[in-house]
Amino acid sequence: MALVSATEMLQKAKAGHYAVGQFNINNLEWTKAILLTAQENASPVILGVSEGAGKYMGGYKTVVGMVNGMLEELNITVPVALHLDHGSYEGCLKCVAAGFSSIMFDGSHYPIEENVAKTKELVKIVAEHGMSLEAEVGAIGGEEDGVIGMGECADPEECKMIADLGIDFLAAGIGNIHGKYPENWAGLSFETLDAIQKLTGDMPLVLHGGTGIPADQIKKAITLGVSKINVNTECQISFTEATRKYFEEGKDLVGKGFDPRKVLAPGFEAIKATVKEKMELFGSVGKA
Ligand SMILES: [Zn+2]
Repeated sequence: MALVSATEMLQKAKAGHYAVGQFNINNLEWTKAILLTAQENASPVILGVSEGAGKYMGGYKTVVGMVNGMLEELNITVPVALHLDHGSYEGCLKCVAAGFSSIMFDGSHYPIEENVAKTKELVKIVAEHGMSLEAEVGAIGGEEDGVIGMGECADPEECKMIADLGIDFLAAGIGNIHGKYPENWAGLSFETLDAIQKLTGDMPLVLHGGTGIPADQIKKAITLGVSKINVNTECQISFTEATRKYFEEGKDLVGKGFDPRKVLAPGFEAIKATVKEKMELFGSVGKA
């Protein structure tokens, strides 16, 4: 199945009270692990690519080629969207040209007027390409490709203003942050989320920084309109832990344990386990 936009899968998720995971990819192992897990669990999936990861993988066209090749040759039939995560305006245009099926424009660091103006431009462009567009209001804390913010809460009125521009789904800060959560984290602001959902209606809402949010808070967020949850750090941690164990146990020194395909295998399996666990928590298993 060819890449699809994320619009339909997220509208279905919102109506069905579950969420679709966005799992960020860093290389071939990540991509293959996530696609195979989605297929095995009959779950729709969104592959997230940050601008930094896109550059790391050799550019957006390389990513598109790799993902399209796997969709065909691994016989992936579940809906898959390839999505630019926290794109700049220029990055969004590059991903449209490269063949992504979805983009996020992160204009949260602009004054609201400029965020609105740039989002409007992109609404027109993605419509011409049958793609989906995510916009962000209220900076999401933590660090994302060098941009650091604290766990802010978005202004529901500003959310409504951006939602009405014709975007497909909206990321709003509700006290969530990227990366590991600090010990003294206050938790998600369900009051803010509730107020945003009341004003934005059917618009699927996006929760960034899914790593480390307790399962009960994730479930409650889904009941309040969150239909897309971004997971990045958690796969990185499970991959690295499994890889570290491989070396600590000296497996690289046994037989052909130095073979990179053997070295990367435990991390690959660890990503699969993390993704499966998240799909079960989000309720997307069997929804493809
Ligand atoms: Zn994010």
